[in-house]
Amino acid sequence: MLELSDHARAMASVATTPVERRKMTREIRVVGKVEYNETALAIITTRVEGYVERLFVDYTGVEVKAGDHLVEIYSPDLLVAQQELLIAMSGQSNASLVESAKRKLLLWGLTQEQVDALVRDKKTSDRITLFSPIKGTVTEKMVVQKAMVKPGEVLYRLANLESVWVYLDLYEHEMPWVQYGQMVEVKSEAIPDRTFSGRVWFINPVLNEESRTVKVLLNIDNADHKLKPGMYVSAVIRAEIRANGKAAATGVEGQWSCPMHPLIMKEQAGPCPVCKMDLVQIPGASPATPQDDALPLSVPVTAVLDSGIRKLVYVEKSKGQYVPVEIVTGPRTDDAYPVLSGLDEGDLVVTRGNFLLDSQFQIRGLPSLFYKEGQAAAVGHQHGGKAPSEADPKVQTPPAPHKH
Ligand SMILES: [Zn+2]
Repeated sequence: MLELSDHARAMASVATTPVERRKMTREIRVVGKVEYNETALAIITTRVEGYVERLFVDYTGVEVKAGDHLVEIYSPDLLVAQQELLIAMSGQSNASLVESAKRKLLLWGLTQEQVDALVRDKKTSDRITLFSPIKGTVTEKMVVQKAMVKPGEVLYRLANLESVWVYLDLYEHEMPWVQYGQMVEVKSEAIPDRTFSGRVWFINPVLNEESRTVKVLLNIDNADHKLKPGMYVSAVIRAEIRANGKAAATGVEGQWSCPMHPLIMKEQAGPCPVCKMDLVQIPGASPATPQDDALPLSVPVTAVLDSGIRKLVYVEKSKGQYVPVEIVTGPRTDDAYPVLSGLDEGDLVVTRGNFLLDSQFQIRGLPSLFYKEGQAAAVGHQHGGKAPSEADPKVQTPPAPHKH
């Protein structure tokens, strides 16, 4: 213990603050990019050879509903296949021939209703219409009027933009703070007055070795299509630290959410109230134990002396009396560390003048930041303090400046 007089304390302008339990959050800021929700993409291809007769959707950006017609194709092959079915039905040929003729038409993209109508009405058509399988936006149109198309050719690409994905690249040391289901704030310079909310939807199991980052995927509700694929956004991840120094559970573990509508949270499985898709359960840690759930003991960053190997604070035991205390901390927030061991609530830690105190301890050969066991006085004569033999053998005592 070191005792400072009132005068010495004033000279060192020593200030203290009590250790307290309080809410501690860690903030990670990161830039991300808006991408399509990959689960909400569709490609329109033709299965028959033919010629584009009519384009119902003739420019990109058009919004379509599921079932909307996109394009009509004139196909002589289709006509022949329909006639084959009618011939198979009229003749003495066996049932399997009829079935395979029907199947061919279905495989070429006719609906069951269309085949049934053909069987009933015997009315062939050399046209086939392709319909949109999803509600979405036409993001690419590769086809023009009267063009010839071949089976497998992509005519349109569609994307549902009601939710978008944002990829964030996070460093390894930031990963402990990122959890599945966590809410993340997202802002775009293009929409300065809005703050979007996204949910961590996927954490890449593989690290990119070149950038040393891990891709984290956010799923963001984008009902009004304000966020556009390709945009850059800035994201803020806020994690709360618990008494054990770990990030608090997000509270959504085990709940059910919609891949298309990530803001929907239900206690039970079932269909999404918006799109009727089956809800998906959010995995994650079981609820925290009450002890882990307690608020952390917080010590200001300014109180902590860090040698790189250990962390030390000076505690005021009573007015003017100080002792060094080694502490173990959790990860640092902006202005504080959570203390895992070494301090109790209410302890007065020195937040100003602690470097000066430490040098006083060092000069007097007492245990200090770099000399855990204390050492012989670094300067001048060795009156008091520990004998050199008791000092840490690894520590070289600098030569005294004056010799007698
Ligand atoms: Zn939904």
